[in-house]
Amino acid sequence: MIRLESVRRKSGGRIHLTPRIPRSGPVTTLCGQALGDGTYAESDSVADCANCIRRSRDQSRISSAFFEQEEGSELLRLSLEQARQRKPERKPGAAAGKQESSRPMLRVMPSPPPVPESVGELVTDGFKPAGQGVWRSPGGVVVRMSGPKRDRFAELVYEGSVVATRDGAGLRVRAGDVEVRSSDEGVEVRIRRR
Ligand SMILES: [Zn+2]
Repeated sequence: MIRLESVRRKSGGRIHLTPRIPRSGPVTTLCGQALGDGTYAESDSVADCANCIRRSRDQSRISSAFFEQEEGSELLRLSLEQARQRKPERKPGAAAGKQESSRPMLRVMPSPPPVPESVGELVTDGFKPAGQGVWRSPGGVVVRMSGPKRDRFAELVYEGSVVATRDGAGLRVRAGDVEVRSSDEGVEVRIRRR
């Protein structure tokens, strides 16, 4: 699990949760608010925003929020995995270690293993891996796969336009740039063809 951090507007109000508070720049809370650079501060208190608390129980939400914060960086995927493996120890004022850097883009990391064309029901072309069985489309759709091999479609999370259509005996769901087709033959999840 990623340890969540409490953040609050300097002007007051609810204490929100976020996967990571950057040293500078805006921060996005789990409840979807963007707090501008310099308008917020880390809080030692327990969060009291109901939406943030509810969403903090949903791992895919947290993954999604994490990626929204620093869009598209492969390095962050690795940071996320590292965060899962060890709990970060924050020592305010301590010398800034590599892990504490607010500019992970500058870190040299090994290149990730090649992504296979499909993982069970997911056609991975166009998706980026976002953690254990979690994939993210360019349009911000988060897909979670389950099962021992993480190859079975489990869940789709997207805060945007979703259209579900009957498709013969099955169902077709279009969420953002992702399409999920369900039929007698099974489920297929892929980036929509234009
Ligand atoms: Zn909140």
